Amino acid sequence: MPARTVLTHCPYCSLQCGMSLHEADGVLRIGTREFPTNRGGLCQKGWTAAHLLAPGERLTSPLMRERRDGPLTPASWDAALDRVAGEFRRVRAAYGPDSAGVFGGGGLTNEKAYWLGKFARVALRSASIDYNGRFCMSSAAAAATRAFGIDRGLPFPLPDIASADTILLAGSNAAETMPPFTGWLAEQQGGGGALIVVDPRRTPTARRATLHLQITPGTDLALANGLLHIVIAEGRTDEAYIAARTSGFVAARRTAAAYWPERVERITGVTVADQRAAVSLLANARTAVVLTARGAEQHSKGVDTVSAFINLALALGLPGTPGSGYGCLTGQGNGQGGREHGQKADQLPGYRRIEDLAAREHVARVWGVDPAHIPGPGRSAFELLDSLGEPDGARALLVMGSNVAVSSPAARRIARRLAALDFLVVCDPVLSETAALADVVLPVAQWAEETGTMTNLEGRVLLRRRAAPPPPGVWTDLEVISALAGRLGAAGDWDPAPERVFAELRLASAGGPADYSGISYERIASEDGVFWPCPSPGHPGTPRMFLDGFATPDGRARFYPAEHRPAAEDLDAAYPVYLTTGRLLQHYQSGAQTRRVPDLREAQPEPFVEVHPDLASACSLEDGELVRVVSRRGAAIGRVRITESIRADTVFMPFHWGGAASANLVTNPALDPVSKMPEFKVCAVRLEAM
Ligand code: SF4
Repeated sequence: MPARTVLTHCPYCSLQCGMSLHEADGVLRIGTREFPTNRGGLCQKGWTAAHLLAPGERLTSPLMRERRDGPLTPASWDAALDRVAGEFRRVRAAYGPDSAGVFGGGGLTNEKAYWLGKFARVALRSASIDYNGRFCMSSAAAAATRAFGIDRGLPFPLPDIASADTILLAGSNAAETMPPFTGWLAEQQGGGGALIVVDPRRTPTARRATLHLQITPGTDLALANGLLHIVIAEGRTDEAYIAARTSGFVAARRTAAAYWPERVERITGVTVADQRAAVSLLANARTAVVLTARGAEQHSKGVDTVSAFINLALALGLPGTPGSGYGCLTGQGNGQGGREHGQKADQLPGYRRIEDLAAREHVARVWGVDPAHIPGPGRSAFELLDSLGEPDGARALLVMGSNVAVSSPAARRIARRLAALDFLVVCDPVLSETAALADVVLPVAQWAEETGTMTNLEGRVLLRRRAAPPPPGVWTDLEVISALAGRLGAAGDWDPAPERVFAELRLASAGGPADYSGISYERIASEDGVFWPCPSPGHPGTPRMFLDGFATPDGRARFYPAEHRPAAEDLDAAYPVYLTTGRLLQHYQSGAQTRRVPDLREAQPEPFVEVHPDLASACSLEDGELVRVVSRRGAAIGRVRITESIRADTVFMPFHWGGAASANLVTNPALDPVSKMPEFKVCAVRLEAM
């Protein structure tokens, strides 16, 4: 076979770096290519991604177990799919349609996310569908929607960041989680720009900052209110912008009045001088960008926290001003597109609300069903998982693109709920921790073995091209959904060709907030991606949003004032230390992929616990020894890393491992009341030497 090169994108994070896959003599090699977001750069995960396609631990046959306590053994596709369809039919007949559930993922292509939503509502007629993006970006999405009327992670292209005089980055360690992104920060700082980083840890990102605000975990909301207080007190608000382009400032000013600098210092640990320095850098900037990420968002008050940062940005006149703005750095590969096309419990394709009658009629027309056929909103991700096997919960669950046994907070409780199901089916390329619990495992293709679109952190719709066929015996997720829809007698078109699914997605999204109807595979390929909304084939797409107005009924952005409150679980005598969790350079999410890549595993073979020297001394801990991190929900074991880069009242654990090392055995499932985002970023723990 002649050598060939396929232009595609990385399988992991939301930067979706452009890369090439070169095939020669049956071997695939990663190469770089010029792409506007990563400009040829890749991180270690991207460089080693070809290993994911190697036979190694790939599943190549469906697996089934006859009894819960029996082994998983190979089965034919027909037998496995018949069993899945039969179990779904049985639970629906016995317990009603919502007893059949679906759980998706923020890494699935737009086509899969769209089809999962359609499958749940049309084939199962169930409201029980949600996805792991609820654990990731939902707080920023809710805050942006209520402020701007629409949610797109970055409402401007990434290169705009490089020309900002000042960037405030709250809760992102981009230098480790998406290294090519820091090329833009380097350009910005090289041009004299200032970078403010808000993080309880002195991360590689914080180390490069002009100003690092080493905040107490769970207090970002108070800090944002405090910065707004200083902006107002020093007369640095953009009065003309506030008057012309916003509503609700008076209430925000009233709330901010109670966050005077000395009080904010007591709550957050950020000194008055540093608060004033941050405001000075922001207010003196000609252009400025405020960015939030999981560190500020994964809290039981994550939506209000993001709103507080948006309030700050609005008071300074940033959103919708060329060269300035507010944005969220999405996390998962398709964190943006995954939340737009219907795998979310309250949503229909095109970022439509499922309770909107006009939206239901439009989507029902595309699906060829009666609008009354489409169920209403279902439970959010954690609530869905936490009700599994309960009288009013799902009794049979299909999991696609998610490793919930590792990635859910209070993971032991979720493991019990998974065990309480009548039936669990998991689609996965490998035997992940969740797949290992299933009654049926369906081996599916991944990344470079299938074509599909992804929407990156900028709202740029990209095309991931198939570079190699899946191993014999492996199906695509779309083929699995198609086969199940057929067995369940679902109405409508279930042709699993990705471009055909995308054509239907375009129709379903037409007229919605996230309108993809003008986007085609050809355009994506020839234009290096297309920014939504793009409502017609002749439309150029929308790289920059809000320049002429916001997507609210009156065109004004809305201030949403919010009061600070403590983390859902604060420190006490029994649990005197904060735990915060996060990602590492070498691993991605639950680690189901990256822990199987030798170079990455060797570089970061096991979890660790970052401990400040003072805390280590107080707890009699030595560097390199094992420690048990204990919360009210359980304990996780990691190796002590003593470092001065973390606060003395806080420890950090990465969350990429399962089993006894799973940080999510410890984390708190307290949910944000609006987004239903769990509080991954802060809980109270104690350290026990082993
Ligand atoms: Fe780029 Fe993210 Fe892939 Fe790294 S993991 S190469 S930053 S897309």
